[in-house]
Amino acid sequence: MSETQFFPEGSLVAVLTCEPIDRSLDYKAPEGGVETGAFVAVPLGPRKVLGCVWGAGRGAFDLSKARAISEVLDVAPMREEMRVFLERVAAYTVTPMSSMLRLATRAPGLMTPPSKRKIYRRGEGRPTRETEARGRVIEVLEEYGGLAFTLKELAEQAGVGTSVVKGLVPMGVVREEEAPRDLPYPRLDPTRAGKELTDAQAQVSTTLREAVAAEAYSTTLLKGVTGSGKTEVYLEAVAECLAKGRQALVLLPEIALTAEFLTRVEQRFGAKPAEWHSGVTMTERRRVWKMVGEGGAQMVIGARSALYLPFQNLGLIVVDEEHDQSYKQEDGVLYSARDMAVMRASLCSAAVILASATPSLETWANVEAGKYRRLDLESRFGPAVMPDMHALDMREERLPATRFISEGLAKAVEKRIERGEQSLLFLNRRGYAPVTICRACGYQIACDHCDARMVEHRFLKRLMCHQCGETKPMPDACPSCQVEGRLAPVGPGVERLAEEVRERFPEAKLAVLSSDLFGSARALKEAINEIAQGDTEIVIGTQLVAKGHNFPNLTLVGVIDADLGLQGSDLRAAERTFQLMRQVAGRAGRAEKKGTALLQTYQPEHPVIRAILSGDEEGFWRAEAAERKAAGVPPYGRMAGIILSGPDLAQVMDVANALARRKAPLTQIGAQLFGPAPAPIARVRGRHRVRLLIKAEKTAPLQGAISAWVGQIKLPGAVRLQIDIDPQSFW
Ligand code: ADP
Ligand code: ZN
Repeated sequence: MSETQFFPEGSLVAVLTCEPIDRSLDYKAPEGGVETGAFVAVPLGPRKVLGCVWGAGRGAFDLSKARAISEVLDVAPMREEMRVFLERVAAYTVTPMSSMLRLATRAPGLMTPPSKRKIYRRGEGRPTRETEARGRVIEVLEEYGGLAFTLKELAEQAGVGTSVVKGLVPMGVVREEEAPRDLPYPRLDPTRAGKELTDAQAQVSTTLREAVAAEAYSTTLLKGVTGSGKTEVYLEAVAECLAKGRQALVLLPEIALTAEFLTRVEQRFGAKPAEWHSGVTMTERRRVWKMVGEGGAQMVIGARSALYLPFQNLGLIVVDEEHDQSYKQEDGVLYSARDMAVMRASLCSAAVILASATPSLETWANVEAGKYRRLDLESRFGPAVMPDMHALDMREERLPATRFISEGLAKAVEKRIERGEQSLLFLNRRGYAPVTICRACGYQIACDHCDARMVEHRFLKRLMCHQCGETKPMPDACPSCQVEGRLAPVGPGVERLAEEVRERFPEAKLAVLSSDLFGSARALKEAINEIAQGDTEIVIGTQLVAKGHNFPNLTLVGVIDADLGLQGSDLRAAERTFQLMRQVAGRAGRAEKKGTALLQTYQPEHPVIRAILSGDEEGFWRAEAAERKAAGVPPYGRMAGIILSGPDLAQVMDVANALARRKAPLTQIGAQLFGPAPAPIARVRGRHRVRLLIKAEKTAPLQGAISAWVGQIKLPGAVRLQIDIDPQSFW
């Protein structure tokens, strides 16, 4: 990657395309020349494809035979900072540059000149007949000075029908003009007054404003319980950014992108920001993409891929709910939007604000290491009640080994059913039973590659290692003593808990939320919506329910096994249990009905349990950090997952085994390789999936080793290989 350079007509330039080719292609610069970063259309075989000029051509190729760039497109060239960013992300995530360019050009019609459309601005005089509606249209146009609106925008802003606007055109009061389709967004006014801040909020706001005003890279964790005013305060930082003439990006988990949030921004700055997420229309996408690049959009609210928009002068990135797992892209280019936001900001001298009530351990560790600043908002704004949290001491229960719901919890559930309220039974354990034990010799079926026991999945009729994904059929005889018929399930998974709930509350309407029980994200979302609105009385859920879902009628959370995270079979189980309980607590306190959280535990004095109950988060984080350090896992060690998939299982397995045999490049950096093994979800959309897992020390040069390692194998066309650096999930 070279600095921006001008290439005169006829010279050879390297053009990056979105085509799945692992290198740039050489073309001749067109008439008028071209510079690095220019978006171009180039001939490729019989087609014309989108490309971006990446530097000087390689010259491996006879100049007279090179084809010329067809056209330089009328969009802002990609800035050097963006080109460096894409290359860094590509290197970090071990992704081909063509995929990065695709990610950075996810807007339609960049190659076709935009068509015109009608816009409306203030003309002259007054209408022949004054009406209130007509008055409002004029008022809006005058309030926004010379700004032009689309018909829809103007009508909406004035709160009138489009015919009112149209009616003013023949009178000359409103002027109708033809304009390029992609219009700048209405200006946001950062000088408007925000809410009056409390002293604590004002202090935090000042520090954040200073960080933004410095126009230098910095990352700040903004920590505060739900409702403490984090949004209020980071909007102050956005105001500072806009006042500096720089652009602001606010990332939200997809599910949190609501009209309510947009309205809040509008109230603060007098106009709505640009939006970028899966619900935005294609034409609007192109408008956002172009305007961000030309400076016609000051603020973008978006889901994770908004990070790859071609900002002209990005001064602030807010990652709200920074702990949310949905920031990890699990499809295509596998990246963590939170981590890449920090990378992007460091390249464009921008500030980052990571906001959360329950930050990730990664972020906490970065604060501890002095890499991130931390600001706290201690209390809620206004009167809101935190729910009661209690431990249920399971040592005092007389439950048979096949039962998992204590009397205390059952009574609490019953009460909710009587009152028509919902209960959530939280168990972070997929499958039927976490342990399979031999009643003859005491042997527990364990994974051959991990320090983990195999989990029975009755639904799939297999045993599975949740660490590396290895599965095997449930044997009839004990693998250790060979005695038949004595293997028995121990402990609960959600499948087994559901069995108990059905026996105990046969009348209750039950829903089970576990990732392996849904075929698609949409099916899951539908189930969640149904729970939020419908008459489900008991919800059984894994960590899935942590994802910002609002169940307004939910007043009881029962944690079946609060000790579970303490055993550490899923890397982040404790962290997520803790986060979930804090989040659920926050929600319950927001509703009118006071909430209760009951934690079933055999170790009520355990430091983590006590931290959860007392809200001693620092204590929790210290304990969790110590465990991760001891195990050498993230954020104190590194992991990478390899997912191979293809229609033919034997072929996929062959590739996986070939990789495992050639693991020398990994061994050389001291990394360990686990697997191959069928993935927990072993078949997705007709493709078989096989996983490998790599563990290495934090400082090991993992990406280089992985590239060298997978580079040894030529993949059959039908087999796809995905590299997941810093995996968050292991499905
Ligand atoms: P968080 O982002 O931490 O959940 P919010 O910023 O959404 O908190 O604040 C919670 C609610 O309290 C919002 O309705 C917000 O408008 C209100 N609020 C927070 N701080 C103030 C303030 N200083 N003055 C008035 N309302 C406030
Ligand atoms: Zn394993």
